[in-house]
Amino acid sequence: MREVISTLSQMLKNKEISSAELTEKYISVIESDNKIYNAYVSETFDKARSQAKAADEMIANGSATALTGIPMTLKDNICSDGDLTTCASKILSGFRPYYDSTVWTKLKGQGAVMLGKTNMDEFAMGSTSETSVYGAPLNPRNTEHVTGGSSGGGAAAVCANMAAYALGSDTGGSVRQPASFCGIMGLKPTYGAVSRYGLIAYGSSLDQIGVLANSVKDTAVVFDAISGVDPHDQTSVDFDFGDIANSLGQKDVKGLKIGVAKEYFDGINGEIKDAIDSAIKFYEANGAEIVDISLPVLKQALPVYYIIACAEASSNLGRYDGIRYGYRPESFNDVEEMILKTRTEGFGDEVKRRIMLGTYVLSSGYYDAYYKKACLLRENLIADFEDIFNECDVLIAPTAPNTAFKLNFNSASPVEMYLSDIATVPINITGVPAISVPVGTDGSGLPIGMQIIGKKFSEKTILDAAYFYEKNADCGVEDFKGGVVL
Ligand code: GLN
Repeated sequence: MREVISTLSQMLKNKEISSAELTEKYISVIESDNKIYNAYVSETFDKARSQAKAADEMIANGSATALTGIPMTLKDNICSDGDLTTCASKILSGFRPYYDSTVWTKLKGQGAVMLGKTNMDEFAMGSTSETSVYGAPLNPRNTEHVTGGSSGGGAAAVCANMAAYALGSDTGGSVRQPASFCGIMGLKPTYGAVSRYGLIAYGSSLDQIGVLANSVKDTAVVFDAISGVDPHDQTSVDFDFGDIANSLGQKDVKGLKIGVAKEYFDGINGEIKDAIDSAIKFYEANGAEIVDISLPVLKQALPVYYIIACAEASSNLGRYDGIRYGYRPESFNDVEEMILKTRTEGFGDEVKRRIMLGTYVLSSGYYDAYYKKACLLRENLIADFEDIFNECDVLIAPTAPNTAFKLNFNSASPVEMYLSDIATVPINITGVPAISVPVGTDGSGLPIGMQIIGKKFSEKTILDAAYFYEKNADCGVEDFKGGVVL
């Protein structure tokens, strides 16, 4: 797949283009194509122009890194000082945080250029990005289909040359699944590998900021830049990942133990199964050892996820009361009515559904039956995943049981939509890392994604395995617009 970041970075260093010119090019693509794809919900072009100027100075004085001067985007739930950050929700309309998220502080320090905020499901709750108050983004591969979600705007922007890369958040699949629907890479790092400071919380024990990019190398460059311990996030971990991007390509897959769990293939579409099977055969033909794994706990992952995610969301979203942030109704008689009206008018249906579900499973009398049980089952899942990584180095699985849905396909049935998260949520429940890699297309040309999953902090192993596939197998997913970088 296209190595957009390294190509652009080389062009910048060779003075074939300046960051200011590059930024104008991206801005003009956004100005013409965002009308079609609805990937961006707000733009920060003026700031981007001054960031590009500063980046050109870094390049001139020799202090540039691989990301200096490269235009990118943040999901609408990642804070940057003074810029609209609304979680695609009416309740946060007009909200501008007064501080930077740690990921943005780090990227800004390297001279990144931020073009604006990208579309998403409201508060990251969804799998299609259709619950956005701004309307759904459209899949650049086929605009009658969704981008996936919840980081759908970022995936569309990266796919359609509206940003070189994007940061999204992944609570139950929201980076990997849109990456798979749009035919790009999506990395969900180990829980704690990347600081969550400045990411607006959905389910705090599951949330992790991840990378959407066109190639494995691009993904690794960004991961290298954003990972690391952060005093602002007590759950972040001090782990030395080394320089993953520059060590890619040094390893083949001989002797790599690849686990395949049959439970992961139950109920998935035949074309997806075939595409993943051929990828597994490709690894085997190149010397990997395929290990059959049994993961019967997998079927418990979905209810465990929806109980824990909703419970945490109901608590995290308690802060939106019309007093401190965003939207407040025009008329009310007292404070209680103001809060009631703010929440009734400000939240969309899916968010309300989840707050109610979360409140229910945490309420006295139901706590033991639902929330506590889900937490115990989560421990089982964690233990089972630890066991399987004693038998294999990585696990291969589909990213989703289906390719991109038609627009409005799932809006009538929330449960149908929840069921489609079966392949991604176990990764968040257990805190391990996974990357979604394009491995083929279905009969109508929509991309299919494969997850390469590793044990905690094994980002290097999964990125190496993904890189080997990307470079040596023919995945059958065309680069958008024939591979042009701009
Ligand atoms: N589709 C899942 C949900 O609706 C995952 C969302 C996410 O990862 N933010 O909860």
